[in-house]
Amino acid sequence: MDSEFTLLERNILKAKGLSEEQLTNLVDMGVSSRASFGEVGTVLTLLELLPELDPAVATRVLEWAVPAAVTEAPAVSTAVVAPTINVDSSDAVFCASCNYKQPKDYTPGDLCVNCGRQAEPIEQCFWCGSSGPGRRCRNCGAAFVPVAELPLALLLRRDGLAKDDIPRRLAEATAEEKDQLWGRVRRGRI
Ligand SMILES: [Zn+2]
Ligand SMILES: [Zn+2]
Repeated sequence: MDSEFTLLERNILKAKGLSEEQLTNLVDMGVSSRASFGEVGTVLTLLELLPELDPAVATRVLEWAVPAAVTEAPAVSTAVVAPTINVDSSDAVFCASCNYKQPKDYTPGDLCVNCGRQAEPIEQCFWCGSSGPGRRCRNCGAAFVPVAELPLALLLRRDGLAKDDIPRRLAEATAEEKDQLWGRVRRGRI
């Protein structure tokens, strides 16, 4: 192992909820630096590597380790649910950060020409694990759910709900229903 987590990084990861044993397992698998989480990339992949890991912990760890992939999403995701953003008959794309209208040659994934941030938030698909900008997965067509609710989507998926029903179910769930789902996520360990 040529690089290892620094003491500070280990402490941060433990504060996020990783146990000493889980840390050791990660290092054994080659996830031994903050940068290597970038290769892990997604909450789904992290859960595949460490199946016993609490999905909420996995989400927090990746939020810390891969800010580009996740940090902007929680703030933006709620906004994206509002039906006006990015849906325009002229196909115009407006920056999720500064709302600047992107040029005609804009392609999904480009950085905003005005503020330099990701014009569209990169979301992660609960169904197939792909990630990309926009409101739907380009790989399987599932509508994206907020990153913070990914573990809930995985739970509903395991319950056997259809791909198209899961985002709707989450959008319609009351706070109380979501609390119950979180309870199941924490107890059941996906
Ligand atoms: Zn911008
Ligand atoms: Zn997908």
